[in-house]
Amino acid sequence: MSGIPVGELERRRARMVEHQLRRRGISDEGVLAAMGRVPREEFVPPELADVAYEDAALPIGESQTISQPFIVAAMCELLELDGTEHVLDVGTGSGYAAAVLDELARSVLSLERIPVLAERARLALDRTGHDGVEVRIADGSLGAPDRAPFDAISVAAATDHVPPALYEQLTEGGRMVLPRGGRGGQRLVRVVRTPEGPEETASLACRFVPLVEG
Ligand code: SAH
Repeated sequence: MSGIPVGELERRRARMVEHQLRRRGISDEGVLAAMGRVPREEFVPPELADVAYEDAALPIGESQTISQPFIVAAMCELLELDGTEHVLDVGTGSGYAAAVLDELARSVLSLERIPVLAERARLALDRTGHDGVEVRIADGSLGAPDRAPFDAISVAAATDHVPPALYEQLTEGGRMVLPRGGRGGQRLVRVVRTPEGPEETASLACRFVPLVEG
């Protein structure tokens, strides 16, 4: 499709897993294997297939981006998935993170507010065998009450607070990972729902597009 031989893309993907992920501290073997299986070139615009395994976020149109592979891996690792989870992915974008989550969990519902991105993501997910992922056009800050609760929630757009609807849709012991902060600086934050209330831990610095709320 991209004109790049499949073997070459596979080599680049394997190199990305070793150099960008394992050497930088991603140690969850499930996450490393999942990132080694999902063809990122299928989730970027065709003209960017050649740079699909660069260590960077890439534009996907509509002023949005596909996240850097390392950040996708870090978020999946923080969610501690064992294959049994019902997962909510907020901000489908290209669908790449949804595909990786699908490799790691029982089911994935992904929400995107921009219809054309949701449609393209749907096609890429189908092409790559992730047809079980449900993609919905919706305001992800409200979650999906009809499908709650979720064992894990991944939010791929930045916000300065934990959206209350999302916290409420976590199971007891459920994990949410979100980039917290504004355009200036953000940090990945892991929030665990506990009977005593949210338990938060800050992790890596990151930079995401803003979560559009309301
Ligand atoms: N996970 C994506 C990266 C997405 S970028 C990937 O792997 O490619 C963030 C996405 O969140 C954008 O597509 C943006 O349109 C979407 N977004 C922002 N605010 C949103 C909201 N309130 N509800 C749903 N999607 C939202």
